[in-house]
Amino acid sequence: MRKGIAVSPGVAVGTAYCIHEIFVNPDTKRLEDQEVTAELARYESARDRVSQELRALNQKVERQVGHEAAAIFSVHEAILRDQAFTKKVRSWIVNDRMNAQAALHQLLEEYTRLFSRTRDSYLRERLGDVRDVVIRLSAVLTDVLKPDKMSIDGPLIIVADELLPSQAVALGDVEVQGIVTQQGSQTSHAAIIARSRGIPAVAAVTGILRQVKTGDRIVVDGRAGHVVVDPDPEALSAYSKLEREFFELQDQLAENRDQPAKTADGQPLQLLANINSWVDTKAAVAMGACGVGLYRTEFLYLTHADVPDEGEQLDDYRRIIEQSPNHRVTIRTLDIGGDKTVPYLGHAHQEANPFLGWRSIRLSFEHPDLFTTQIRAVLRAAADVKSEGREVRLMFPMITTLEEMRRVRTMVRRTKQQLQQEGQPIGDVPIGMMLEVPAAAVSLECIMDVVDFVSIGSNDLIQYLMAADRDNPKVNHLCQPLSPPVLRVLQSVIRTCNQAQKPVTLCGEMAGQPRAFVLLLGMGLRQFSMSPAFVPRMKKLASEVSIPAAEAMLQRVLEFKTTAEVKRFMTRNLRKIAPDFELLDSI
Ligand code: PEP
Ligand code: MG
Repeated sequence: MRKGIAVSPGVAVGTAYCIHEIFVNPDTKRLEDQEVTAELARYESARDRVSQELRALNQKVERQVGHEAAAIFSVHEAILRDQAFTKKVRSWIVNDRMNAQAALHQLLEEYTRLFSRTRDSYLRERLGDVRDVVIRLSAVLTDVLKPDKMSIDGPLIIVADELLPSQAVALGDVEVQGIVTQQGSQTSHAAIIARSRGIPAVAAVTGILRQVKTGDRIVVDGRAGHVVVDPDPEALSAYSKLEREFFELQDQLAENRDQPAKTADGQPLQLLANINSWVDTKAAVAMGACGVGLYRTEFLYLTHADVPDEGEQLDDYRRIIEQSPNHRVTIRTLDIGGDKTVPYLGHAHQEANPFLGWRSIRLSFEHPDLFTTQIRAVLRAAADVKSEGREVRLMFPMITTLEEMRRVRTMVRRTKQQLQQEGQPIGDVPIGMMLEVPAAAVSLECIMDVVDFVSIGSNDLIQYLMAADRDNPKVNHLCQPLSPPVLRVLQSVIRTCNQAQKPVTLCGEMAGQPRAFVLLLGMGLRQFSMSPAFVPRMKKLASEVSIPAAEAMLQRVLEFKTTAEVKRFMTRNLRKIAPDFELLDSI
């Protein structure tokens, strides 16, 4: 049994499918003499395909974003065409009878050794580029994300070093029952995707790819953070029973989807869904959310080979508005950078501190054409929303200062004027900020004047408050929603918004965590946005707690000085109110 971080609750038993296993378990089978020519041809044709891909990307990105952003593809193409690179791979295939993937793996190891000795940061950055090219080549050679091509029996458990958002989306309709990653944490995007689909997941299981291979039977326990490879019959039967109970409880809870969300003393609540693509709107409806509180539009960009143009975005937003519960959607503008990068947006240089660097709104400001295109598409899509109760809101991520918010407003105003001059119909769209930077929490009172609503992005707010990377398992113990400083900041933000009578939502992962949910209720929060799978659970939990009870728990908790005390107290109290919830809590 291996231990990791529990990132998405539930239990799943299935068959492992390892992604990127070429880099950890390369196929070392030697080629037969008669296979060499074919393998060489296979490698050459993969190289041609990657070269075409890179050239097409280069041209399109140059047109859409500019020369500088497109330059990275020329660098990658130069690496692909590099004599030494090609000569080595060819020679290992021909002389050492290696298959192409094993040769690429060896090449990457050799470059890693070579580059690690240099102190030159420019050269070290180039290693990242070599890696990118090798991954592109190996993806073409292996069709790595096509589990349907493999004859795998039973439900699939994805095992990967790190599940990149684009890979997760590329898995598409493949039925995935569980996810295990070597990297990541509660708030990394793979975890968020797992939760949004209600898939049990465990992250930060170091070295798991060395212990498991595609086809092995594997258990994922997303409550305790355990992974069991090749379980014995007793463990298998125990886990299968838990798996059944988990599904039964989910089904049972989903039955309350048509009930209104309210507390035990009748206070109405709004439970909204976080979505990453139009596919998730189905889950939002099925789980009984009353709208979409966060549409992370970056997934539209991440799954595109190049920048999605205005028409493509318009279609996507229209479809989402049409399919969302009550046609209520809060659309967040591009939030790229940090752990989410798209090569065509000029991440040619690795930053030393990506989460503190050129990400999110900061990047949008530097690509005004791209930014305006997105605002145009949202304003136009909102034009179709007319009837009672329908609402499209536009939200900007990672706002740090009042100046940024003013700049956003000016851009929206100009974009509206431009559209009106063109005679395009546009909708009336409230403008809001995500509160995820401590500086903005401190100066919220002044920023408040220029926003129509606030949405607390607690995943980022916590990492910035605690100075602890949300994706780094080594500092995960610090990223705790139930820690006293986090709770104090949240209480102050919610109070400021309520006093100013500005709608406030929380859309970070803690909205779906039972103990945190109750404390947020006590702070006066009435709108919560979470992974769709969590909506029925929180609806049930809310129906068991009255506002005075939540307020009393909060008062007591605010006297505690450590996270452990808060957790202990809340676990004890929750056990009394809703004992079933232990199966669903993964903190
Ligand atoms: C957050 O930071 O809490 C949030 C909801 O945004 P994301 O997780 O996409 O950064
Ligand atoms: Mg965020």
